[in-house]
Amino acid sequence: MSALKVEFVKSATNIKDYPKPDKPEIAIVGRSNVGKSSLLNAIFKRSIAKVSAKPGKTRLINFFSFNDKIYFVDLPGYGFASVSKAEKEKWQKMIEEYLLNRENLKYVIMLVDSRHPPTSLDKLMKDWLESFGLNYIVVATKADKLNQSEKAKTTKIIREELNLDKDKPVFLTSAKEGTGIKELLSYIFESLEK
Ligand code: GDP
Repeated sequence: MSALKVEFVKSATNIKDYPKPDKPEIAIVGRSNVGKSSLLNAIFKRSIAKVSAKPGKTRLINFFSFNDKIYFVDLPGYGFASVSKAEKEKWQKMIEEYLLNRENLKYVIMLVDSRHPPTSLDKLMKDWLESFGLNYIVVATKADKLNQSEKAKTTKIIREELNLDKDKPVFLTSAKEGTGIKELLSYIFESLEK
């Protein structure tokens, strides 16, 4: 890919603060600590999304512009254990408002940790995305932590546990080593052009 132009556009907590829906948009969700910021940084080829020492701290929807063509949106992570009930409700409201209303949203990238089977919250998230009728792709993170035979198994386990349709791709990625990211981006960009 030629030189990238990536800009942080803004953070928002509710719909009135979102940028104008004037470009196709890709949103990224996943439980806290799954590697969301790291994957975004790997996609952007720079450290622009925060890699959190304290998982679950960010409660903002962050918008990034990619080559002036696409918005990438970092949605707040879920499943952080020490979050209060009120915080969880706030998260749910924020995400729901975004997912249900964002007219330029083309894809949701749902992240799962390749080292563990999807959690019950991952399953809930997937059901949610499906019930909203959204296009989503499943991306497994931290694949550098797996050996060859684990790599072969993990995609199958993710497919089974999330009960994914056959035509749904699952990408195995490592932000640390940069693997799987080119394939993921090619898939998204090709789909956007269709
Ligand atoms: P977020 O909370 O989902 O945004 O997760 P972060 O991107 O902040 O990452 C959480 C932790 O996982 C950090 O310690 C990262 O260094 C680590 N991490 C993220 N991606 C990878 C990866 O591809 N490989 C490895 N080995 N560690 C990763």
